[in-house]
Amino acid sequence: MDRKNKIEVPFSREAPDCRTIYKGGSLEGNCVNEKCKFYKSRIIWHIGFGEFNLVRQIATAKCPICKEKAKNVDNLFYYLAEIEIEGQIGEGDTFTRKDRATNKNAPCTFVNKDDCKQPWNYIQMKVTELK
Ligand SMILES: [Zn+2]
Repeated sequence: MDRKNKIEVPFSREAPDCRTIYKGGSLEGNCVNEKCKFYKSRIIWHIGFGEFNLVRQIATAKCPICKEKAKNVDNLFYYLAEIEIEGQIGEGDTFTRKDRATNKNAPCTFVNKDDCKQPWNYIQMKVTELK
């Protein structure tokens, strides 16, 4: 979640139902339910506003259509929101990141998706509405 990796992804009319973005935070992963219309598709699970244990959120993210557990959850979106992230990888230094997604036409995400897969000792994210 290096700021240099941050990108804005403009909304697309062609986006499938499994990739709807709402205000606040969301996680991106794969639907792995063979019975779901979006099996093997990249899906977006909305978590909204609040304070989150991201390790837990990543582990419990679901496909928004079939509501089955998603896999390969490796990225984060935030839209019309301020995020504050604090975490620690293993015994390493504490990592903090604060950012705002203010463009109503384009949610923010990260190019480097691997951050969600780090061996986090802990990682907390606070998502608040823009003032
Ligand atoms: Zn599904």
